[in-house]
Amino acid sequence: MLEVKDLHVRYGNIQALHGISFTVREGEMVALLGANGAGKTTTLCSIMRLPPPEGPVVTKGTVRFRSTNLLHVPPHEVVAKHGIGLVPEGRHIFGNLTVMENLRIATYARKDTGAIAKDMDRVFGLFPRLADRKNQRADTLSGGEQQMLAMGRAFMSGVRWILLDEPSMGLSPLLMQELFRVLKELNETGTTILVVEQNAHLALRYAHRAYVLETGRIVMEGPARELAQDPEIKKAYLG
Ligand code: ATP
Repeated sequence: MLEVKDLHVRYGNIQALHGISFTVREGEMVALLGANGAGKTTTLCSIMRLPPPEGPVVTKGTVRFRSTNLLHVPPHEVVAKHGIGLVPEGRHIFGNLTVMENLRIATYARKDTGAIAKDMDRVFGLFPRLADRKNQRADTLSGGEQQMLAMGRAFMSGVRWILLDEPSMGLSPLLMQELFRVLKELNETGTTILVVEQNAHLALRYAHRAYVLETGRIVMEGPARELAQDPEIKKAYLG
């Protein structure tokens, strides 16, 4: 279980998170919803320990993963030792490398060769578009295909906890659906997911539970189905 408790985070003098608490259980798909500037990216960066100067500074709170406080481990261990991966906003793929090369690079720290081959098949099974474009340079992929590649890379790194920052950003409604369907499939086959989203419609359709963040505070939480019916959520986030 990932348990964020009373997390306070600031950037210089700007307080971005005012003591947020939430949990993600093994096997769940949880959404963190909120408008621009609510603190969603800050939350993910704090969990992943993205370092200063760009990174946020945690001034109080804990991020407990299983029995470890992640705030006390070196950032690279969050991925390599604890098996939590991040698919950042903006994707961060290597544009001058091919699809296949991008996926292979993600496996550099793994030694389980047999499992790598299996995972590669799995990625191409989940994303047939990537299979068709194995040898294509990543910077010539469409936005949606790049997002798929970013998700594929996280999976190929061997992690089974994946945090995603606004995967639907800039995609057509059809592609958004496709991506969330794949996310759900990943989740149902053993990957725990925390997804940050502005698109509440989409996230509440696929997630088990959700939290709503407003200016650095969690203002609502509950099963996704219930939140989707909540009058306040409907008014503020579902239009
Ligand atoms: P968006 O959906 O627009 O990405 P968000 O919910 O992810 O928004 P954050 O990016 O976490 O929000 O920002 C939370 C607050 O922290 C905002 O007020 C933002 O201006 C501030 N902030 C974010 N990054 C920095 C930074 N590097 N330096 C100073 N303030 C920052």
